[in-house]
Amino acid sequence: MKEVLEILKKKKLQFFFLFYILLLVPILSPMAQNLTIMDNIGIFAVCGLLFVAISILSLFISSKSEKIIYSILLAISIIPGSIYLAYLLFAGVLLEQNSVTSLFETNPDESKEFVAYYLSIWVITGVLIYAAIPIVMICSMKSFKRLRVKDYKVLFFSSIIIIVSIISINKLSQSVYFINIYKSFISYKIRTKKEIEAIKDRQDFAYEVKTMPGDTVPKTIVVVIGESLNKYHMSLYGYERNTNPLLSAYGDSLTVYSNVVSPQVHTIPVMRSVLSMADFEHPEYFTKKPSVFELFNRAGYSTYLISNQEFSDECRSSYDILLTLAQNKYNVAKHKQHDDICLPVLDKILAQKDNKNKLVIIHLIGSHMAYEFRYPKEYIRFNHLKDGLVADKPFCDKKAKSTIDKYDNSVLYNDYVINNIITTLKKQCDRNTAMIYFSDHGEELYDYREFAGHAYEKVSPPMCEIPFMIWMCPLFKAMREDLVFDGNRPYSSEDLVYSISDIAGLNYEDYNDTRSLFSKGFTPRERYVGKKKYEAIVEKFR
Ligand SMILES: [Zn+2]
Repeated sequence: MKEVLEILKKKKLQFFFLFYILLLVPILSPMAQNLTIMDNIGIFAVCGLLFVAISILSLFISSKSEKIIYSILLAISIIPGSIYLAYLLFAGVLLEQNSVTSLFETNPDESKEFVAYYLSIWVITGVLIYAAIPIVMICSMKSFKRLRVKDYKVLFFSSIIIIVSIISINKLSQSVYFINIYKSFISYKIRTKKEIEAIKDRQDFAYEVKTMPGDTVPKTIVVVIGESLNKYHMSLYGYERNTNPLLSAYGDSLTVYSNVVSPQVHTIPVMRSVLSMADFEHPEYFTKKPSVFELFNRAGYSTYLISNQEFSDECRSSYDILLTLAQNKYNVAKHKQHDDICLPVLDKILAQKDNKNKLVIIHLIGSHMAYEFRYPKEYIRFNHLKDGLVADKPFCDKKAKSTIDKYDNSVLYNDYVINNIITTLKKQCDRNTAMIYFSDHGEELYDYREFAGHAYEKVSPPMCEIPFMIWMCPLFKAMREDLVFDGNRPYSSEDLVYSISDIAGLNYEDYNDTRSLFSKGFTPRERYVGKKKYEAIVEKFR
């Protein structure tokens, strides 16, 4: 025992290093608003156990090997640690599992803009200091005489068992930030690969999709998926600033839905859900049931995708596989232009004279952060200093108010884009045309705190209550008297597949009439945002 105490005295710096790497995040995690006391205790207990086990094991290795091992530990933990600490210190949240997965999926351009929005000299300084401290510690570590394994077999092997258990048991490893990041990355890669294979394979399976008998007028259905649009910043939903001058002019011919929520508050999980039959109860339907493009392909439609958000046939994002199933794809995001770049492409598609039904899905960049990049300079219209329409709140300073101005400019520009799509459809006199618009999720804009953006850990009503609207040409509407347009229905965009199938008159084995927003048989369902009940989110912010 005397021997052990001797070593412990010489290894003070080593222990402090391990404490820094393993326990700094757990010690600060009570700052996170998204954790319960039990979550914090769990994280601290697992990291504490790992700290003890590695400390014991380190008594058995030479000083030189220890320095090498700690350098590797530092190298693998420094980036995950900076990410976790940055979220903790600046957003007041500890990253949750699905946000960790989103880290691997965000495309580089989007990340650059995101980082540019949140990056400040303080963040850079903080990260540099955070990385420099342990480097100094490693360099200053004193050498010591190690213990022999054969003298302390129990101690040696029990610490190895603890370390291996923490790494291999998911429930435990999720509490250790850097192990969690690496394991999530590996399981994300495996999952995506399996999904891509399963979805490719199922294209050969028989699955009948019927269209309405006797329906001879060709249809054009356009589904527009917006980005980060907060409906409370739309005059269509009562916002004081006139951000929807064009859409407001439609009156009753545009049905505006007031009670629709998104199934998540991040683009990727929302896209996975709205483009497939996967839902809260059955996420496995992502691979097991046909997705939107597949259903329409099987129904004989010509299908099109116009995307102003990066996507690739190599499936860099886990919903790309669903997009690649469109027969015709236009990746306009590579031009890095505003959303009106989609309009001439749509014109070209609609100008093709044939009798085939068409489904066009347009994925806009909408009001994605950073807002000032989302509109041309003619749309720099709103100024809180002139109109005084941005309310005074303690956490809404000058910079926040000008951010809201920019955001509202992007909403106004979106009004122009959507109006243009409807105008184009109106010209298709020989077809039955319809347009559905909704935003993937909403956005918080200094509504409750000093925060603009969307993050599952901070989920609030403006992040998940989304704008949703449908326009149908009068002839089409007249032909479909069976449809109901009730703007008050409580709905989740998770069920989009059933609603657009209903508009198109598609029928198939898994079609569920009670889940179409436009059906007489519509029945409201419990709505979830991620794993949280929507009602609970509303309650929390009441
Ligand atoms: Zn989004």
